[in-house]
Formats: sequence, structure tokens, C-alpha cells
Amino acid sequence: MQKHIPYRIYLTEEQMPKQWLNIRAYMKDKPDPFLNPGTLQPIQKEELTPVFCEKLVDQELDDTTPFIDIPKPVQEFYKIYRPSPLCRAYNLEKALDTPARIYYKFEGNNTSGSHKLNAAVAMAYYAKEQGLKGLTTETGAGQWGTALSMACKYFGLDLTVYMVKGSYNQKPYRKAIIETFDADIIPSPSDTTNAGRAVLAEHPDTSGSLGCAISEAVEVAVSKEGYRYALGSVLNQVLLHQSVIGLETKEAMEMLGEYPDIVIGCAGGGSNLGGLMAPYMVDKLMGSGPRFIAVEPASCPSMTRGKYAYDFGDIGKITPLVRMYTLGCDFLPSPIHAGGLRYHGMAPLVSKLYHDGYLDEARCCKQTEVFDAATLFAQYETIVPAPESAHAIRAAIDEAVKCKETGEAKTILFGLTGTGYFDMTAYMNYRSGKMEDYIPTDEELQYGFDRLPKAD
Ligand SMILES: *Cc1c(COP(=O)(O)O)cnc(C)c1O
Repeated sequence: MQKHIPYRIYLTEEQMPKQWLNIRAYMKDKPDPFLNPGTLQPIQKEELTPVFCEKLVDQELDDTTPFIDIPKPVQEFYKIYRPSPLCRAYNLEKALDTPARIYYKFEGNNTSGSHKLNAAVAMAYYAKEQGLKGLTTETGAGQWGTALSMACKYFGLDLTVYMVKGSYNQKPYRKAIIETFDADIIPSPSDTTNAGRAVLAEHPDTSGSLGCAISEAVEVAVSKEGYRYALGSVLNQVLLHQSVIGLETKEAMEMLGEYPDIVIGCAGGGSNLGGLMAPYMVDKLMGSGPRFIAVEPASCPSMTRGKYAYDFGDIGKITPLVRMYTLGCDFLPSPIHAGGLRYHGMAPLVSKLYHDGYLDEARCCKQTEVFDAATLFAQYETIVPAPESAHAIRAAIDEAVKCKETGEAKTILFGLTGTGYFDMTAYMNYRSGKMEDYIPTDEELQYGFDRLPKAD
């Protein structure tokens, strides 16, 4: 008889990871270096330290150390809300009548409602260790701003959050929660920065974008004594910190005698996917490993329709050039899109793995299909998922249905990155039939491509 697999598996405190895993150390072909946009030469450490904490710059540029110690105070904070459970979606499996075994790693069990806290804690810790006064950042849907406000409060740092205006207006409670942790929150574009004023001059009615909010936050960080900037996705350091997700998952799966055939993550900037797949990607780089699927919105299709090219990380063009899948930093995603994952680019590490074929597939889905999946999942698994997470659910369901057709009992693992309690406006629009799908035309995408910097 097969042994019973519980609905939820938690590691003990002792089993929790003591080190983060750096995928880059295992890659023969490393991601291309960040470039200085003026000289087109690889960025040096000294050029990044005015923007980011020193230790984080070291991590950003380190593509050789396989394991990096998680500082003790960060481990202690992790214990407040980790380990996160690995769940077996028995009820969803039954509803789909699939022979597949579906597992999900649930990262929504903390007040930020997402995996973002894993990286926020590390960044706030290193900022404090360096003796800084505070951090600045941007937030799109609000999870990252919330996570960083929690971490900054814990370590005694100031925080200013630039929140994408459309999202700020849609989610008034995000402001309340971020202020609960004593951070300042400003809708972006704002008139508090040159970058914000420039965007407002050209597009006075814009609902904002992550790229613009990033420009504003960086501008403030570099011009204020004792402040640095923190970014919640895309960067190597974030994927490194998020490897706790994958390390915990692999350990728990091994306790069950399970190994996934398919690993699925939603992809906005690529951090939860990068973190979940980390230990399995190392297997893949060594010649085995599962099939990986990245899922993104049809309205912001950076991997499925973007170009693999050097681009800026922000609309203000003040970041280094990064080689990634991108729609161009001038691409402004449609405000109709409620499902998050609105960043124009993709983590350079995820991009490189996709470009080289280690990340097997990127697919995009329309938001109504995503909310269909979110609703089904909520009804059977009792968790109301974040719209972002529901992209991964959509793909997991589709793969499980394929298993039903072929009779294959595959093991499917996906990242349930967070909860959707702040997204009820979007859920209401979906339920009332008001939700529209938006797919940019080739001409609209060409606008962004035409403005890519000439770096190769
Ligand atoms: C931020 C966020 C994402 C997308 O970001 P990645 O960096 O691609 O992981 C996905 N789900 C939730 C709940 C988020 O908050």
C-alpha cells in the first residue's frame, strides 16, 4: 500500500535552510553582466553601492558561490512565519478527476500575503548591519511594500514606498497596512521626484507603472544621506533569498518520497519562480531535473512575446542595462489588467535559463481564464489566491487535465505565492462579468521594442 501523504507538510525549525542557494554557481554559461549605460562596460561594485547595500551588491555580483549563509537574525525572523506548508491539493485533484498528484507551496501565510517577505527580511537586515537610516522602494500590487515595511519596522529602519497609482487607488487598505508598520507611502507617478514629474508631464492621466515607481524610489535613495534602495524582484539577490522556498519544498518532497515531473511558477519579475525552482534547476543543470513552466499574463507578455535584449530596469532609464526578456522599459501595461505581474522585463537569471532551454516553457494566459482558475481553486482548496498566483494555478490545472486525457499520473508542483484578500475589486469585476481581457497588438509592442537601448 502507498503511504498516506498528509494534506499539509511542515518542516521542523531544525530542518529549515541555513543557507541560500545560488543557481548561478552551477551555470556553465553565466547571465550576461549588467552594463553601465554610458560606457557599455560591465558595472563595477562601486557603481552599485550608492544604490544598494554593500552586502547585497556582493550577492548580486557573485556567480560562483553555491551556498551563502543566511545570517542568524534573518533565520530568526524566518521562524516567525516559516516554514511555509507544502500542501497536497487532494480536493482539487478530485474535482478535476485527474490521476496527477498536485502539490503547492503556500507562501501567503504572513501579513504581506506573499513570498516577498523572504527577501525583504534579508534586505532590511543588511541595511541595518551597514548602519543605514532607511530604505526606499516601489510596490505594484502592494505585497512588496507591505513586506518591506514589516521588515524595516522589525530592524528599526525608515521606509518610503512609491506605489503604482492605479493599484494605490484600487487597494486603499494597502496604504493602511503599510502605515501600520510606520512606513510612508506615495502614489506614483508623483511630483516628489524628477522622474515622476517627467512622466506626469507626458502622461498626466497615467495609472503608473512599476518601471516609473522604481525610477522615483531610486532617485530618492541616491539623493538622501543614509538611504539605499531595495527592489523586490528581478535581481539576482532576490532570487537568491527566495531560494528558501525551493529548498524547503525539496526537503519536504523528499520526506514524502516525491520528486516533481513539472514545476510551475507565475512570473512577474521572476523571483518566486527562481526561488521555487532553485534546487530543481541545479538538478537540471547537472543533466536531470523536472520540466519548468513560467506563466505570465497575456497583457504583459515579457517572455512569450518579448525580446532577449539589454534594457533598462525602469522607465526613467537610470538603472544599469540588464540583458533580459523585455517588452522595452517604455512599455506601459494596460490599466485594464488587474492580475499583477505587470513588469516590462524578467529576471536576468530566469531569462538566461529560458534562453538556454533549461527553463522549458513560458506561456501566457488571459486574466478571465486566470480568475476562472482562482475561483475553482478557492472553492476546492479554501484559499482565495492572489491573482498573480492564479496564473500558476491556471497552468497546474491545465497540466492536470492533460494528465487525465493521457492517463499519466504526473507529479505537479506549483508555487502558491500569496492570498488575494486585497484584490476583491478585481474578483468583483470578474464575478459581475465586467472583467476584460487585454492583449497588446504587435504595433503596441513595437513601440517598446523601437525604444530599446542599442547595446549589442
Ligand atoms: C510579487 C508577486 C508575484 C510576482 O513576482 P515574482 O517576482 O515574479 O515572483 C507573484 N505573486 C505574488 C503574490 C506576488 O506578491
